[in-house]
Amino acid sequence: MTYYGRWPYKYEKATELGAAGVLIIHDTKGAAYGWDVLRASWGNESFFDPDRDRRLLFEGWTSGETADRVLAAAKLDRKALREKAETPDFAPVPLGLKATVRQHREFRTVDGVNVAGIVRAKHPAASGRTIVLSAHYDHFGKDETLQGDQIYNGAVDNCSASAALLATAGFYAQRPDRLKDDLCFVAVTAEEQLILGSSYFARHLPFKKDTVVADINFEMTNVWGETEDVFAIGARHSDLDAVCREAAEKMGLRYTPERNGELGFFYRSDQISFARAGIPGVWLSQGIVAKGPDKGLVQRQFEDYRRTKYHKVGDEVQPDWDLRGAVQIVDWARGIIAILQERKDLPQFVPTSSFKRESVK
Ligand SMILES: [Zn+2]
Repeated sequence: MTYYGRWPYKYEKATELGAAGVLIIHDTKGAAYGWDVLRASWGNESFFDPDRDRRLLFEGWTSGETADRVLAAAKLDRKALREKAETPDFAPVPLGLKATVRQHREFRTVDGVNVAGIVRAKHPAASGRTIVLSAHYDHFGKDETLQGDQIYNGAVDNCSASAALLATAGFYAQRPDRLKDDLCFVAVTAEEQLILGSSYFARHLPFKKDTVVADINFEMTNVWGETEDVFAIGARHSDLDAVCREAAEKMGLRYTPERNGELGFFYRSDQISFARAGIPGVWLSQGIVAKGPDKGLVQRQFEDYRRTKYHKVGDEVQPDWDLRGAVQIVDWARGIIAILQERKDLPQFVPTSSFKRESVK
């Protein structure tokens, strides 16, 4: 999966080409989540940042079944079109259909707040550079149309990561003399709404961009127990890959390439805002092999979480959580910080990445 396969790019490109609106045909496999997740994320009001360019007149999704009916009216077949779309010589196919879009739009202004704190490096060899650590603290609020529980607690997504961020901040706040690079801890808002908070932050950095080393993002931090392996989502885009590997191996963890890269997780959380602003970033993820006799334990629980609780009101604290996994992730982040601050050169994007240090996308 690349940036170009994710939905924000479809809207961006359509805006650039002067489209009136876009309906994306939902594909569970490509999106890596079902229609229910889309409904929870987009069935209510949505937000945009007035600081950014204009949006399309309408943006939305249709299910595959609805798309089939529409395409049938144009005597077209979705499967055949998809197959063609996966070849390099594909060109857009006009449907010859007219659509009437009726909307009752209501606007309200909502203030969102990113909360950031800086631990200043107190090492005699302080560099004047900054490493950013991030985690989003927002979720979906409340859904009053639901029976029973209406509160989206977001215990894994993203309290687990917010806790990891605070624990890391707490650790360094006690030990600034160990730091050569300043650490900026930012709890960003509106990740669940187009990643607005981190996007704003990355475009209005409170320090010079060429002094920012990297973004280390905590997201849905492992609450299911220790693993033997870890991987860094998005590491393949930059020199951070080698840094993440070195730090993991120092802890005796097996470092693997990003798993499920085709699911595009890199493009789905706050590290992407930094990459778009020209700053390499990673999301630190647990691996799939649990420590202990039941090797599949962590992955099984993670998959069960994604299937049954992700972006639902059931994302709550569970009595069987094993936070030793989260401790591993925080320790790994500390290892990464230790390596980064010893390196003279800033991490760069690799030539095959769609991002560049100076790119403003
Ligand atoms: Zn989420």
